[in-house]
Amino acid sequence: MRSLKPPTELFNPTCAKREDDLRNNAEPNTIARENERNTAVNGSWTKTTGGAQSLRRLKQETGYPTNTQNAKAKNTRRRSSRGKFKAYTPNSPAGYSNLSTPGAVRSYGYQGYNTRVVQTSKTRSTVVAGRSGFIQGTPKPLAGAAVQRNRLHIASSRVGGYSEEAMMQRFEFLENEVAEYKKKLDEAISEKAKYLSLVEEKMLEAKINDEKYKRECENRRQLEESLQKQREKHEKDMQENVIMLKEVKVRHEEEVESLEVQVKKLQRASKEQAEEIENYSEQVRKSKRKFDELEDEFSQSRDKIKKFKQRVETLQDEMNEKEQKISELQAVLDQIQEKKDKLEETLRKEERLRRRLHNTVQELKGNIRVFCRARPAPSQEKADICIQFSDNNGEKNGVEVCTKRKSAMGKDLAETTQFKFDQVFDTNSTQEEVYQEIEQLVQSALDGYSVCIFAYGQTGSGKTYTMEGNAENSGVIPRALQQIYNETVRLEPKGWKYELKAQFLEIYNEQIYDLLTNKSKENKLDIKQAQDGSIYVADCEKASVTSIDMVNTLLRKAAKNRSVASTLCNDRSSRSHSVFSLYISGTNSKTSESCNSVLNLVDLAGSERLTQSGAVGDRLKETQSINKSLSCLGDVIASIASKDKHIPYRNSKLTYLLMPSLGAGSSKTLMFVCVNPLTDSSQETLCSLRFASKVNSCHIGSAVQKK
Ligand code: ADP
Ligand code: MG
Repeated sequence: MRSLKPPTELFNPTCAKREDDLRNNAEPNTIARENERNTAVNGSWTKTTGGAQSLRRLKQETGYPTNTQNAKAKNTRRRSSRGKFKAYTPNSPAGYSNLSTPGAVRSYGYQGYNTRVVQTSKTRSTVVAGRSGFIQGTPKPLAGAAVQRNRLHIASSRVGGYSEEAMMQRFEFLENEVAEYKKKLDEAISEKAKYLSLVEEKMLEAKINDEKYKRECENRRQLEESLQKQREKHEKDMQENVIMLKEVKVRHEEEVESLEVQVKKLQRASKEQAEEIENYSEQVRKSKRKFDELEDEFSQSRDKIKKFKQRVETLQDEMNEKEQKISELQAVLDQIQEKKDKLEETLRKEERLRRRLHNTVQELKGNIRVFCRARPAPSQEKADICIQFSDNNGEKNGVEVCTKRKSAMGKDLAETTQFKFDQVFDTNSTQEEVYQEIEQLVQSALDGYSVCIFAYGQTGSGKTYTMEGNAENSGVIPRALQQIYNETVRLEPKGWKYELKAQFLEIYNEQIYDLLTNKSKENKLDIKQAQDGSIYVADCEKASVTSIDMVNTLLRKAAKNRSVASTLCNDRSSRSHSVFSLYISGTNSKTSESCNSVLNLVDLAGSERLTQSGAVGDRLKETQSINKSLSCLGDVIASIASKDKHIPYRNSKLTYLLMPSLGAGSSKTLMFVCVNPLTDSSQETLCSLRFASKVNSCHIGSAVQKK
């Protein structure tokens, strides 16, 4: 960068030339004085300064820097008698000039040095000078008289040294110089401005380059990083490859070894094979010979086949004849089939007739029938029996109960009460005998009638034995299922297709439980009435009975569920009702007949009179619910018999559940009254028989078949 300097010639000693020109026109004594002045300037007038303000003004005029600080420091500023400040220079010759007026600019000529009068008084005028740099210097000590003279001399010479014209010329010259200098300065400034804009441009460029460089650096760094990673990966791969190659090499060597062994083996084998080939060639030769022999045989066989073909043709003729005969026989068979269909149709009519007749027979027997069954006395005890059985015209239907009581006199009195039922089974009766009597009733269920069979009696009187039986002597439920299942199979060729679904419930404390479920045993169920008025138990499992084995499985499951419940409540089974329901629905595709019915087999809770006095808690609840449901059953039956408008089915869960099977006209009901023959149980036996005979006296009317 080019440094800008002020035009030196302005204050340069070269100006002395012009000064000299001026001097040449001056008077001789003036020159002498000038010389003296120069001596004084160079020697003692070392410090000619004014106040700071004067220096600043000088600076403005000349554009040349002044050392104001320096001047301030070294001058002594004093307040004049008039109160004005003035710069005082102790050894300045200007101090003795009183010929100048304030503000006059004097030029001393030598080295272009200017002074300005700033203050005048009678004795001195104060001047300021521009070039402090020139002035600064170590003053040479002069003798006091010489100094004084010099000062006086300079003061007088400065006032009258040059003519006014010369002064003006000088001034003009200086002005031109200044103008020139200003122009140059402007040029320099514009040049500098250009230069500055160039610099800014360059700086901007540099900044952009810098950013670019930074970006490149970053890219380079990333590139180096990725290169490093690649290098590392490559090295790792190389190492792995070297290991792998080593392994491969080892493996190859092993393979080569094994191949060599194999080659040796193969060589041996090929030798053996060559021998074998030789053997085979021999065999081929033999085979060829054999083939020739076989060919001979084949030609012989061909002759034989020819003969067989002739035989086949004769047989074909025979077969055609037989086919003729078969078609004749088919015609006969069709006639027979036709006859068979007619016979089947007759049979179906017969079947319908049988059903009607069967129902008539059942109706004649009464729709609520009561069978009495006495269980055998336990063999180990010496039996004290209170029951006797009687025949009426060969029919076993009478039973007598002998009860003992104390008379008012304290005597033992024996009372005999006679009962008559539809059928009485004595202590020796077997399960088969009992079932034979109800077989027809079960048949009614298949014919489309709802059937309900109850077992009533005190605990231990044989209700469960009668209804379910045991493994050796199965009871009513398994036998009924067996019969129904057999019947569905028998009726299948006649076009009947049945669907059997079993449901096994327990009613305990007026709550219904499912005995066929795998869910929690405390899963209580509710009876619901469908829109068509039918009664059903919600969320109850109904198992499809597709084989006779299933019946036993279901009974076992129910017994298991009931026994689990028993452990929770002591002998619960005797204090709960169990209701086995078989839903039968059958359709006949040939006759478009259908039937829907339900067979209910109910093992009631023990009917022994459980006095409520003394019973507390669960026992009291059980007693109340048993008494309630059994008396409800009696009420419902009595209500049906007396054809009441309102039948109180809903008074207990049992009667509500059995409502469809106990309804007038659509059901057939049978009650087994089970009794214990022992005298100890005579009172209970009497009660049971009384209840049963009350039921037996009800005649409900004709049952209606559900189609
Ligand atoms: P309930 O169910 O009325 O309480 P059970 O059927 O459990 O009475 O009978 C009580 C016991 O008497 C059982 O051991 C049962 O095997 C036996 N039992 C009942 N009736 C007969 C019968 N007719 N023949 C043989 N044993 C019977
Ligand atoms: Mg029982």
